[in-house]
Amino acid sequence: MIRDFVVHPKNEFYIGYNKFYYFCVAKKINKRMKLLKILLLLIVPLNLNSQNTNEMAFAGVRTLVIDAGHGGRDPGALGKYVYEKTINLAIALKLGKLIEEWFPDVNVLYTRKEDVSVDLNERSNLANSNNADLFISIHANSTENANARNSTMGNETYIMGVHKSEDNLEIAMFENSSIKFEDNYEDKYEGFDPTNPESYILFSLMQNEYLEQSLKIAEFIQEEFQNGPVTRDRGVKQMGLIVLYKTVAPSVLTEVGFLSNPEEELVLMDEGNQQKIAECIFKAFKRYKEYMENYAVEQYNGN
Ligand SMILES: [Zn+2]
Repeated sequence: MIRDFVVHPKNEFYIGYNKFYYFCVAKKINKRMKLLKILLLLIVPLNLNSQNTNEMAFAGVRTLVIDAGHGGRDPGALGKYVYEKTINLAIALKLGKLIEEWFPDVNVLYTRKEDVSVDLNERSNLANSNNADLFISIHANSTENANARNSTMGNETYIMGVHKSEDNLEIAMFENSSIKFEDNYEDKYEGFDPTNPESYILFSLMQNEYLEQSLKIAEFIQEEFQNGPVTRDRGVKQMGLIVLYKTVAPSVLTEVGFLSNPEEELVLMDEGNQQKIAECIFKAFKRYKEYMENYAVEQYNGN
């Protein structure tokens, strides 16, 4: 009989059975679908929530890299009494101490904690390999123009981009020349010559996905500097800097003052002033962290 059903599909009984069978199967599937829907309704919001929570945490600042510019065989700018590398390190360590003290949940990484040479590549790699959320490079400035030594002073903060003036290019060339202290720099930086203006065309081709955040922290730093010992505000500028270019995170390079200016060199050498400058950057960091956290909440609420 059963065989007949199969062999004669037009058999009424078979067709009736067949319909009934599919009806039952459909019912079962329907039931299962309902169950699946209920489960999905329960699971999906939970999943979305956990995803959003992760995104919110990520939008804050979990890992910060503090980069004391130059070091070791690379002294940076030369003041009358002090090397730039020494000032940078002193401020970097003071800044890190403040953040560790007030934000124990933030992982603070240093590209150097003593007077040692560190390749620019390695500095960016430290940030990239640790998925850093922010990179702050600390430097002190200098002008090559002997006639402008007394009149050139103040602080400025750089974000990645193309220089808009020859002065900025001069500073970019100086800061990028750090690579000349490194072994095989021609190979490591794919023929980039820090002293050749043509090399800087490279930076006009790049897309900077962290421009907005970098600009935010740069603006906060410049605003906070107004309460510090060096108050001449030279603003936020864009510049093709290798160390920022290679870092895959919001990143800034701040020049805390001019060592070529005799007055400002003395200001920067004073430990109390170094502490005040570190406090300015710390306050900017705090504001930036809050800004990023609020931004995440706004995104979460769909604003
Ligand atoms: Zn420097």
